[in-house]
Amino acid sequence: MQVLRGVGVSPGRRAAPVARMAGPLSEPTAGQPLPEEDREGAVESINAASQQVRDELQAAASRATGAAAEILTVTATMATDPSLVKAAQSQVRDDGVRPERAVWVVARDLADQLTALGGNMAERATDVRDVRDRIVARLTGESGPGVPVRDEPYVLVAHDLAPADTAALDAESVVAIVTSGGGPTSHTSILARSLGIPCVVATDGADSLADGDVVAVDGGVGNVVVEPDEETLARYRDGADAPTSLEGPGATKDGHAVALLANIGDPSGAAGAAKLGAEGVGLFRTEFCFLGRERAPSVAEQVEQYSRVLAAFPGRKVVIRTLDAGADKPLPFVTSADEPNPALGVRGLRTSWDHPEVLGDQLVAIAEAQSASEAEVYVMAPMVATVGEAEAFVAECAKHGIDRAGIMIEIPAAALRAKDLLASAAFASVGTNDLTQYALASDRELAALAALSTPWQPAVLDLIATACEGAAVHGRPVGVCGEAAADPALAPVLVGLGVTSLSMTARSLPAVGAVLATLTLDECRDLATLAREAASAEQARDAVRARISVLDVWGL
Ligand code: PEP
Ligand code: MG
Repeated sequence: MQVLRGVGVSPGRRAAPVARMAGPLSEPTAGQPLPEEDREGAVESINAASQQVRDELQAAASRATGAAAEILTVTATMATDPSLVKAAQSQVRDDGVRPERAVWVVARDLADQLTALGGNMAERATDVRDVRDRIVARLTGESGPGVPVRDEPYVLVAHDLAPADTAALDAESVVAIVTSGGGPTSHTSILARSLGIPCVVATDGADSLADGDVVAVDGGVGNVVVEPDEETLARYRDGADAPTSLEGPGATKDGHAVALLANIGDPSGAAGAAKLGAEGVGLFRTEFCFLGRERAPSVAEQVEQYSRVLAAFPGRKVVIRTLDAGADKPLPFVTSADEPNPALGVRGLRTSWDHPEVLGDQLVAIAEAQSASEAEVYVMAPMVATVGEAEAFVAECAKHGIDRAGIMIEIPAAALRAKDLLASAAFASVGTNDLTQYALASDRELAALAALSTPWQPAVLDLIATACEGAAVHGRPVGVCGEAAADPALAPVLVGLGVTSLSMTARSLPAVGAVLATLTLDECRDLATLAREAASAEQARDAVRARISVLDVWGL
């Protein structure tokens, strides 16, 4: 049996036949003009194809939530937009252009016009091209772009997934995801974890997998077995018995409390996380309120959105992170488009240097939402590097009546000097996605660097240990809210390093909580030592996994 190796980013074992994501369509050739008598039929075929595409996207929108649902609804409307459909039909009727060619040409011109307009309009060009490919695929009978539709469960294999693809994913039919691209903190990985779908990214040889090949995927270990034997199949096919619900508050076997919190990106995520039993919210990413806009949302709008999140957690902790724009989250009204290295640029808290009013308004909105709610509100800043920044942020929060102000530790400098930063900040939350990126000088989005970009790197564990030791001097709590917290093997290591709460996509809470409950605090400390003594990320991970027997039993 051939075993492909990649990076396991969402645990679980499943086996099923492969369905590949279709590649991009090629431009239809002009060919001979259609004879007069065939033109009306061709005109009608454009109507039928565009309506089918609209219905397909609307159906996907109704299965999605939040921003994804909005994107899909807008794209669905575009499929039958007269500026596309009527213009293409005229070309067929008047000049005998073949329908697939007519749709292609009209959509291309439309996309070019939108690109030229810039701003939000330019972003719509991608949607026009997506709709174009879907209509053309219908007309030519080729496989359309996006996630395949199958009656039977399958393993989705792709180079990487785009946001619109992932929004349309149906967790019932996609039993696992394997990609050749992507990294542990890429969009695909984050989505797979949030849907609870086992996933392996940066998989060597994934591009050679063909439709119908049977594969057994282990999303915890990062293996993909090609054409597995009966015994392997039996172990993988039905999935293992991993716990699917959260049993009480998070704690080690000997009762050391570790709050199990949720990462959320919008108000609908808050309701979902509360339903899954999260003890609170450890990271509320507020970017959803700002992205895709020409200017910042009003204070009133922010109050309304934040209040909806707080309402889901009365009496519970909710950590709101202030705007983290820049790098992978560009925002024209606060970030610059021409920085040579945006990940090392004016991002996160740094955007408030030139735009203090954006942070000020956000704090006004948070304070107002807090005063009308029963939640225990905490506020933290992303990308804090220095003592001065921490002090200024805490002072700014205090000015707005917010006294539980903390910092994210995402920059090695902040981890190393946590003792100094936490003299003023009331708590810290380690963003392991960025901390790993900066510690290893390895872009978190790059598949080629996936083996480097893992929080299992002993150097990253050392930084977290140092941050915990520094915070302990002032008795300050340190949580982890990066993707590391969602790894059921790494979570006990983090607890052993001194981390006091773990925040993750809500779907990962049951598995992490269950594994933690099988280990004592001393065992977690031993695991932390074992991992830090390893010479590499792989060795750290293998050594720790070998010690936690339930991982194998539960297929995590
Ligand atoms: C992180 O960097 O780990 C983090 C939680 O922040 P984000 O992923 O939003 O950058
Ligand atoms: Mg970050």
